[in-house]
Amino acid sequence: DMRQNLDAMVTELSQSIKDTNLDANLFKSKIDSNHIKLNKIENEGFTIEEVLTVVKSLVNDSNEIRVSAQHFSEQLAKAQSEIDALKAQLIKTEHEIHFDALTGSLNRRAFNKDLQAILEQHPDGLCLIIADIDHFKVFNDTYGHQLGDQVLKSVTKRLNEACQNGTKLYRFGGEEFALIVPNSQLRRARQLAESMRRSLEKLVVKDKRKGDNINNINASFGVAEFILKDSVNTLIERADKQLYEAKRLGRNRVMPI
Ligand code: GH3
Ligand code: MG
Ligand code: MG
Repeated sequence: DMRQNLDAMVTELSQSIKDTNLDANLFKSKIDSNHIKLNKIENEGFTIEEVLTVVKSLVNDSNEIRVSAQHFSEQLAKAQSEIDALKAQLIKTEHEIHFDALTGSLNRRAFNKDLQAILEQHPDGLCLIIADIDHFKVFNDTYGHQLGDQVLKSVTKRLNEACQNGTKLYRFGGEEFALIVPNSQLRRARQLAESMRRSLEKLVVKDKRKGDNINNINASFGVAEFILKDSVNTLIERADKQLYEAKRLGRNRVMPI
């Protein structure tokens, strides 16, 4: 949409520039011809009526170019306000591309950008936690997708509340979350993941349709600590491997122990 708006504006402006340019050239040739007449007046001595005719034509011509310039200036003002609106839209869009629409948390794109930037600084003590809701497909099948969405929002809220000391939460995928934990060794990140796990265990979501309280929401966690040769991918892989282990060993747990 923004691109189309910009294209339309550029086309309109360039047409306007062409028109104004044509008008200006026309005006110049009229001025030139009047100039020749004025020179004749000086050299050959015209009557006052003849002089007035030249002056009248000058006034008319200058009026035309005035209207043309006025039109161009209006077009420029319109383009300026369109540019301002597009700028505001761009800032909003740039913000939106880093956030997840459902939960309002930062998204995978923001995660990749942030983690890449952090890793480039070779941080001392950085951990990655990946959390994945257990048996969420069954949950959706049992209670419906809408309540599933509600759970994702509640889980996001819980995880966010547990974030401290610069830890940032991202929605990593469907029912997966990632947490970048700065200035922490593995032991501390594991403790954080464990407190998050317990907090989710206590989460209760109300099924408004049936009036039931649902309290069997759990998640598994994989934790990995950054090592110097790590890239974004290798760090994710190690956390993912631990998450897989947590699932394999029965879910609702943090790995490594
Ligand atoms: P596991 O314990 O092994 O992780 O099992 P799981 O069922 O959680 O994992 P699986 O990958 O089989 O299924 C993920 C489910 O998450 C399936 C999908 O419908 C659900 N899901 C993903 N994104 C959303 C979402 O935005 N809203 C809802 N309601 N469900 C979602
Ligand atoms: Mg999953
Ligand atoms: Mg899952």
